[in-house]
Amino acid sequence: MKVFKFGGASVRDAASVRNVAHILKEYKNEKLFVVISAMGKTTNALEEFTKALYVNLEDANKLLTQIKAYHFAILNELFQNPNHAVFTDLHNAFVELDWMLDQAPEQTFDHTYDQVVSMGEILSTKIVSHYLNHDGVANKWIDVRDFIRTDNNYREAKVDWEATEFLYNNSKERYFNGQNNICITQGFIGGTSENFSTTLGREGSDYTASIIAFLCNAAQVTIWKDVAGVMNADPKKFNDAVLLPHLTYHDAVELTYYGATVIHPKTIKPIQNKNIPLYVRSFLNFHESGTVINNLPGHSEQACFIHKPDQLLLSISGKDFSFIVEDSISKIFAVLASFRIKVNLMQNSALSCSICIDNTSKRAAIIEEFAKDFYVKYNDGLELFTVRYYDAESINKLIKNKEIILEQRSRNTLQLVVKNSTQ
Ligand code: ASP
Ligand code: MG
Repeated sequence: MKVFKFGGASVRDAASVRNVAHILKEYKNEKLFVVISAMGKTTNALEEFTKALYVNLEDANKLLTQIKAYHFAILNELFQNPNHAVFTDLHNAFVELDWMLDQAPEQTFDHTYDQVVSMGEILSTKIVSHYLNHDGVANKWIDVRDFIRTDNNYREAKVDWEATEFLYNNSKERYFNGQNNICITQGFIGGTSENFSTTLGREGSDYTASIIAFLCNAAQVTIWKDVAGVMNADPKKFNDAVLLPHLTYHDAVELTYYGATVIHPKTIKPIQNKNIPLYVRSFLNFHESGTVINNLPGHSEQACFIHKPDQLLLSISGKDFSFIVEDSISKIFAVLASFRIKVNLMQNSALSCSICIDNTSKRAAIIEEFAKDFYVKYNDGLELFTVRYYDAESINKLIKNKEIILEQRSRNTLQLVVKNSTQ
């Protein structure tokens, strides 16, 4: 079994859906579990719709009309027969969103968000599954919420692995029974024990592919992207970026942890645990081999650059000239944990602790919380550069025209917090 994942960009219009069919035809005799994200920017649009539900129903109505128009335009291009079952199927799915307009939401925002936003993946998989069947690629549509069981921490739901494995093992026979070789399912979403929908965190479809690979002991996972594979830097920001043909799981985790967006950070762990290789390949040039991530030794010799904009540097010090020691550090981390803040870089001196985090709307509340026990200063509008496998040349290239606010080096990784980058 192979697991494939197609992201929003790979199904953003009718031509892209046809391209997915084209790729799948190359794997005719394989068993495939295909994970698909919402089409194009649908998740963002559904987010806006959810916000509008709480503010202005007229705006919400307009937004929903646009989301419908976008999906039906794709349908009309893919299916000539207006009586094809896909049209009813989509209308029925949209009814769930129409209902949202009937009365003000009663649940928390995050709960409503997940019920609404999860529909993006339901819509896209219905369209793709119908189209593939129509185009001769027989497949079965699977509702991933039937087996990916999560807690009810809406918008960042945590997978209940035990329940998920149990549910999957109980239903897997139905998925690939008879002639069926291909299952189409949703990325990014799961379900609670009370049958509510949840989401696993933005861009979480890669993680879904890896969860499914774990469950079915897949031979490999392929994430199909609009880039050639994993590059040593974001090609949109660094024009001399090169492809990395091989990465170890370890390198992949480090790169995504520091902010490389090519794969979701949670993706590696489940497949690493079962030693399943992960391929990152281009859906545009699908004969190229891209990048493989596995446990074979040998790290990339290439310096890898990761850029995170919009950083906030907090400088925290004791109110009475006291040292920053275990006590204060544990207090500082308790505050960060309570706001679910991830630290991108941390540096300590005797009297102060500097912490670099992504800028956040919770900023004022966090600072207020710290201010109860500490003096807090902050610096915003900063950027964080991380270089794995740095050398003199890569450092020189990076620090040109930049004011370095903070620097940290380990054997393999250099991190710089900078101001006024003219990147
Ligand atoms: N559709 C979701 C998002 O845009 C999940 C994904 O694309 O991976 O965040
Ligand atoms: Mg996406």
